[in-house]
Amino acid sequence: MKPITGGCLCGQVRFSIDARPMAMRFCWCRLCQYLAAGNATVNVVFPSNAITIQGQLTDYRSVADSGRVMHRRFCPTCGTQLFSEAEERPHLIIVRNGALDDTALARPDATIWTRSAPEWASIDETLPQHAGQPPPVA
Ligand SMILES: [Zn+2]
Ligand SMILES: [Zn+2]
Repeated sequence: MKPITGGCLCGQVRFSIDARPMAMRFCWCRLCQYLAAGNATVNVVFPSNAITIQGQLTDYRSVADSGRVMHRRFCPTCGTQLFSEAEERPHLIIVRNGALDDTALARPDATIWTRSAPEWASIDETLPQHAGQPPPVA
């Protein structure tokens, strides 16, 4: 199996993953709208023990309404968002789809946090939707 690779826009950060995607989702939560310039983020879930990361990342820590502590990591040089992790679920890492070398690697399987989406949002009606946080992936 060939590893899945990716990195940031400027090339300062590179990563390699020795696992298949576990899930892929659009997220319309308000925080993701900041990260994705107004749209939903596109997120691919992997087991965190399968990833190797090189380069320097800035970690933005925040506490969600649920009390859950989240870490979102991005390249301090070009600003590309790469990873999101919940302290509560350390075995999972969420990779921003745009950071993958092959952005067609997986297909989205759900849309989450639809209640935060603006009314003009283009939401795929053929995929399952969750108004808020869905049940955990694993
Ligand atoms: Zn960069
Ligand atoms: Zn989100």
